[in-house]
Amino acid sequence: MSQKKPEKLVDENNIRLDGRKLNDIRPVKIEVGVLSNADGSAYIEQGKNRILAGVYGPREIHPRHQALPDRAALRCRYHMAPFSVQERKSPAPSRREQEISKVMREALLPSVFTEYYPRTAIDLFVEVLQADGGTRCAGIIVASLALADAGIPMLELVSACAAGNADGRLILDLTDGEDKNGEADMPLAYMSNSNAVTLLQMDGMVTQEEFEQMVNMAIEGCKQLNQIQKEVLKTKYLNAKEADTEKEEEAKEEAA
Ligand code: UDP
Repeated sequence: MSQKKPEKLVDENNIRLDGRKLNDIRPVKIEVGVLSNADGSAYIEQGKNRILAGVYGPREIHPRHQALPDRAALRCRYHMAPFSVQERKSPAPSRREQEISKVMREALLPSVFTEYYPRTAIDLFVEVLQADGGTRCAGIIVASLALADAGIPMLELVSACAAGNADGRLILDLTDGEDKNGEADMPLAYMSNSNAVTLLQMDGMVTQEEFEQMVNMAIEGCKQLNQIQKEVLKTKYLNAKEADTEKEEEAKEEAA
């Protein structure tokens, strides 16, 4: 069931179909530590996207020949559930999923101190439960948080956000409809403290000037998302600390 192309993606007041302004990101809700069987995990709701990430490791690597003598092997699998899109998706890994797994791994790798854990594996699983455009970016955001939640030493969190072009206007954080019916989509991953871009892809045609503006716009989006990521982590660990202190106090009272 394919959706009809809307007449306009952006109206005369520069408002998009979902009510956002050109440079607004979608509403985001993130949770960290949502799975008890993984070493680290995170979940994101971003607009209609629903994505879960789980991390195992550092742990013994199998098959052994994949072991690296001087660092951990970061392995990443991005997967879309069959029910995550309007047309049922085959559960078998598609070329697109293989590509996204690869670029996601490369976007996250510069942030992880893999050299601390030679001959081990860090396995990262990203499951898209519901997709509405920009899932590789949202996947990078939760994957980075899941790595942090697993206690893996990292330089900093990686954020990601797409910028694009629709109806001749530059827009931030594209939905599926804006991606499919617009003129260009450019996902970008970014480390805010290091000011380093770790992923840059683009579909479509833009002028050099538009390209430069899109890069800057996507970086601004990443900076906003980075703030949200940091707050989520801080809140989680402050709550955990408070819970620990309460437990300690209870234990002391019982012992007295
Ligand atoms: N999509 C789909 N079926 C598929 C793959 C993708 O409907 O088999 C949709 C989904 O909403 C996805 C969007 O197309 O988010 C854009 O896909 P793209 O390859 O650009 O990756 P993304 O923007 O999700 O990183």
